[in-house]
Amino acid sequence: MSHLFYQSKSPRPFLERGEGIYMYDVNGRRYLDGSSGAMVSNIGHSNPAVLAAMRAQMDKSTFGYRLHFQTEASEALATKSAELSPAGLDRVFFVSGGSEAVESALKLARQYKLSIGQGSRFKVISRMPSYHGSTLGALAVTGYDPLTVPFAPMMHEMPKIPAPRAYLDGLNADDPATGLHYANMLEQKIIEEGPETVLAFIVEPVGGASTGALVPPAGYMQRIREICDAYDILLIHDEVMSGGGRTGRFWGAEHWDVKPDVISISKGFGGGYVPLGAMIARGDMVEAVLETGGFQHGHTYAGNPLACAAGLALIGEIERNDLIANAAAMGDLLKSRLSGLMDRYPFIGDVRGKGLLLAFELVSDRATMAPLPKGLSAFQRLVDIAYDEGLIIYSRRTRGGLEGDHFLVCPPMIIGKDGIEEIMQGLTRALDKFAAEAGLDVDSAA
Ligand code: PLP
Repeated sequence: MSHLFYQSKSPRPFLERGEGIYMYDVNGRRYLDGSSGAMVSNIGHSNPAVLAAMRAQMDKSTFGYRLHFQTEASEALATKSAELSPAGLDRVFFVSGGSEAVESALKLARQYKLSIGQGSRFKVISRMPSYHGSTLGALAVTGYDPLTVPFAPMMHEMPKIPAPRAYLDGLNADDPATGLHYANMLEQKIIEEGPETVLAFIVEPVGGASTGALVPPAGYMQRIREICDAYDILLIHDEVMSGGGRTGRFWGAEHWDVKPDVISISKGFGGGYVPLGAMIARGDMVEAVLETGGFQHGHTYAGNPLACAAGLALIGEIERNDLIANAAAMGDLLKSRLSGLMDRYPFIGDVRGKGLLLAFELVSDRATMAPLPKGLSAFQRLVDIAYDEGLIIYSRRTRGGLEGDHFLVCPPMIIGKDGIEEIMQGLTRALDKFAAEAGLDVDSAA
């Protein structure tokens, strides 16, 4: 018996090593990492430059408590992060993961409003569904009942508005009226809650696991910014998953040219090499907080030189190998190939995403978008079958209030055409087997 307890229902073999887009178990089996773990390993496994930078840093020091020493690695990564961020967002606070990055953003927002005499503001509006992390503050803004309900009495649950799921509501995502329709729900909610009580709105620019790579409809992100400005509400972009280049831009929100007040980033920032995340905020917000007693928040391992050296080398590899452009190009190819599967499998209801943050959703009827029966456990079975076929993908059964099975296909940004082909072959074998097992129609001629 293992003394660890995680939630995977299917026992998995011991991992031996990872290399590039592949992982190998101790039995010598190879897997294509088609989800980069949990959308983490953006530059693939065992990148020699990152490992060399980590070794070099380890030879000097692995830890220097941030209140005792400055380190070259953390200064350099902060400078680089500020350069990559929208103008004015130039103060960086390092953490060790996505939940910590979100907690930091929520708390900085609150302390900033306190520092400028707006202490009545404490509500952070978010979306249903959404995922912002597992610690109680980040969970309070998460819209996913199975994760939040058990802890409801222990936290101050925050107001939610529906995520813009145009594909489920039968609306055209390219029509700006659709974007306005969903964004205006934020304004209604602010009025309902009392604008003087609302602190911030937090949003994943390109959705992650909860929505399955949901892309906002035309005009949505811009209108959200306008509403936040009109009511003096801070806009937090949770780029924990979408940040770092995976969507084909360094920040997911760059696709809409919208500037937030605070950004959180993590997964692809440490790339699976080290636990690393950051909150990046408007300089004037940080100054206001520092001038009124300082930021009452921090984590012991934050900004440790080993993590920062790895993060800096990782960004260096993204730039040296032009991986953001590759994510855009390979993302377009993969998305069109995934969309092509809809001819063969009538039970694929939707394919969506940006760059290499892509997802497809299974349904029992494409016309109504009714989900597959829960008893099929499609989200678990297809992942298991694909795993046996040597392909790792990531899944969830949630669409907020509605049930549904979606699958994230998010390989490392270093993937080439051969890798995309291999994903498609593995996925086709897995979908054929799943359809046969579940008794679902397949158009074998397509
Ligand atoms: N925010 C988003 C958008 C995420 O996707 C995640 C993790 O999936 C988190 C926050 C929490 O990150 P972590 O699991 O590193 O705490």
